[in-house]
Parts: sequence; structure tokens; C-alpha cells
Amino acid sequence: MGPVFFSDMNIHEYQAKQLLAQYGVAVPPGDVCETPEAARAVAEKVFAGGAKLVVVKSQIHAGGRGKGTFKSGFQGGVKLCKSADEVFEKAKAMLGQVLVTKQTGPDGRLVSKVLVAAAHDIKKELYLAVLLDRSTSRPLIMASTEGGVDIEEVAEKHPEKIVKESIDPAVGMMPYQARKIVSALGLKGDAFNSGVKLLLGVYKTWWECDAAMVEINPLCIVTGAEGKDELCAVDAKIGLDDNALYRHKNIQAMRDLAEEAPLETEASKFNLNYIKLDGSIACLVNGAGLAMATMDIIQHFGASPANFLDVGGGASKEQVTAAFKIILQDPNVKGILVNIFGGIMDCNVIATGIVAAVKETGLKLPLVVRLEGNNVVAGKKTLAESGLTLITGDSMADAAQKVVQAVGK
Ligand code: GDP
Ligand code: MG
Repeated sequence: MGPVFFSDMNIHEYQAKQLLAQYGVAVPPGDVCETPEAARAVAEKVFAGGAKLVVVKSQIHAGGRGKGTFKSGFQGGVKLCKSADEVFEKAKAMLGQVLVTKQTGPDGRLVSKVLVAAAHDIKKELYLAVLLDRSTSRPLIMASTEGGVDIEEVAEKHPEKIVKESIDPAVGMMPYQARKIVSALGLKGDAFNSGVKLLLGVYKTWWECDAAMVEINPLCIVTGAEGKDELCAVDAKIGLDDNALYRHKNIQAMRDLAEEAPLETEASKFNLNYIKLDGSIACLVNGAGLAMATMDIIQHFGASPANFLDVGGGASKEQVTAAFKIILQDPNVKGILVNIFGGIMDCNVIATGIVAAVKETGLKLPLVVRLEGNNVVAGKKTLAESGLTLITGDSMADAAQKVVQAVGK
């Protein structure tokens, strides 16, 4: 069985805008750059195209960039510029520097790319998102006249300012639904027509890309080329459902490993489903359901799990060794609980893997092992004859209790 966890892969703003543009959504013209020189060159083109202002935007997988601060002291991860030289200066101040925003945590994120794009004169900032509503199992459109700010804040203080529209996935977004939302946003005339087109394009992007979430904040009313009001996606965020990525080679190529949690990236290389948590007891389990139950039972006995880890139904010795190494890189881990129910899994393969991993990593932490099922006798024998000091648990509860005791929580 494949992973059952819903986890999203995030992409950068410039990549999200590339996808949106493919489905007809208007985005400001521009390009991504890795050097100040490249940023200057893009800015020159954008100015030559008629833009009066150009924006330089730090590309990290976190929002709140506009109000963020670099560790260097430089203020703002989004800057408006009047000349190509100014774009060069701002890009130079951002590239290679660490940006801290409300969403990055205190460690911040290294900026290695900036998006340089035409900066429109914004008449109004709106909010638009497409997501999956788990309570109805349907796509949900959320829109608000309050754009450019935290939507959580709007939801809390002015819930009436968020309009929602549920979509029937079998037929997709109907034009009347797009018109309904656009009119709820107060758009009229040219902006109305442009808004309907944009909304249908955003929904199509969400659907065709197997996105978990598409968020445009702000979605802006700007003055277009012929002086008409137009809607434009000034910021864009897309999260994609990991489980559908195999269908999208182009999106897989957008993965930026530098933005992901290093242990989780390492785990995915070995096809392990690992999610780091804050507790002290690491668990290594086969099967997502059993892994969840293991986390619960650790909590039941008064401690907290350090991770979710499903090694899958047919893990190899190499995968088990990799799993141990990943678990042990988390400095909060004080003990390990291995909980295996061998259905497809051969308990002796797991046991051999455990012995190899413990020897290879020189494990000093308490290790409790509960093995059950297919070829369990051989597995237990391998453990017993290994000469390692490990604690065995007879049942899941027994094992959980023993590991909690051993770490003396
Ligand atoms: P975030 O702070 O990470 O969400 O980054 P955004 O792309 O949303 O930018 C933050 C704010 O900068 C926006 O809400 C806008 O007010 C402003 N901004 C961003 N791009 C433009 C632009 O092209 N033109 C103008 N005038 N303002 C912009
Ligand atoms: Mg934004």
C-alpha cells in the first residue's frame, strides 16, 4: 500500500504563476532570477514593455514576505522599484540572505531566487482560494474583498466578509458560480468579465494539477493596457497533493528540496513515510494505521511520539537501517519503539534490519521491540542471538509501557 497521509508539496510563487498562466490566469509579466545581474536584465525588459514600476520578490515557501525582515537587517522581502538599477540593488540585498517572516519561524529561509515582475498600480486587493472541503468532499471556493491580509484574521473578525461556493466535482465550476462569486466581490463592468475568466482559470488550475490548495492573495484589480479594469494574480501559492504527483512530471520537477524538512526529504529517498513530531519516543512501524495507533498508545501511557513512521508493508533491510538513521538524527529522541505486525512483512527481515542498524549506528538509547506475525519465531531468535541489549514487548500496550518507562518521561 502506498502512503495514506495527505501531505502537500509546495512550490514557489513564480512556479505557481507559471501553472496559472497555462490555464489563462493573468499574472504580471516577469521572470525568476538567481543573480542581481539577471534581475537587472529582466527589469530592463519589463520596463521596456511599459511598466512604470517593477517588483522584486523573494522566493521562499512561506508567506508574509512583504512584512518580513532579513537577518542582515534589510527590511522587506517584496520591494517596489523605479529603475533597473534599483532592482539590481534590492535583488543584491535579498539573494543569499535569510528572510524571517511570520510564517518561517525564527530560523527563517535562505533566499536563492527572486521573482522580478511588472508591478501594477493596484486599485484594490482581494482574496481568492480553491481548496478541498473535507466535510463535503467537494472543492470549495473562498473569496473575500479583504485581500492582502491574513485570511485567518478576516475569518476571525469578519467572517461575513468571506464568501464560499461549493463546487460539484463531476461538472466543475459552472460559469454562473463564477459570476456569483465575482458579483459578491463587488466587481462591475470590465472587472466583472475579467474576474469570471480568472476564476474559471484558477479552478481549472486546481483541478488539472491535482492541487490541494490554490491561493491568490492578493488578487488585484489593476488598470490594464487599454485603461480597462482587469484582474491579476499578484501573489500565488499552490500546494499539491503528494499522492497525485506521479501524474505530473512537470510539477515534480518544481520540487525544491532546500525548502523541505531535511529528515523528511531523506526519508522520501528511501520510500519511507516519515513525519517529524515534537515528542521523545521515536516509533518505527509497518502500516499507517498501526503507526497512528502506536502514536496514540504512547500518548496514552503519558509520553509523546517523536515521529510518525510507516516503513511500508514490505520493507527491506536497507530501508529499516535508513529509518533508524533518520530517527536518530532527531536530537529529541530518548527511546525507540519498534512495532511490527508481520502480515506481508517477514518479521525476520525486520529483525535482521534492526540488528544491522543498531550495530551500524552504535545505538545507546533504549530500544523496545514488539514483533508479531509472519515468521515471528525466526525474528525473535535473530534478536535474542544478536547480543544487543533490547527490551521486548509482548503486546503493543506492553511495549509502549516499557518504552515510556525506559525513557523515564
Ligand atoms: P507576501 O507578503 O509573502 O504575501 O507577498 P505578496 O506577494 O502578497 O506581497 C505583499 C504585498 O506587496 C501585497 O499585498 C501588495 O500590497 C504588495 N505588492 C506585491 N506585488 C505588488 C505589485 O506588483 N504591485 C504593487 N503595487 N504592490 C505589490
Ligand atoms: Mg500574499
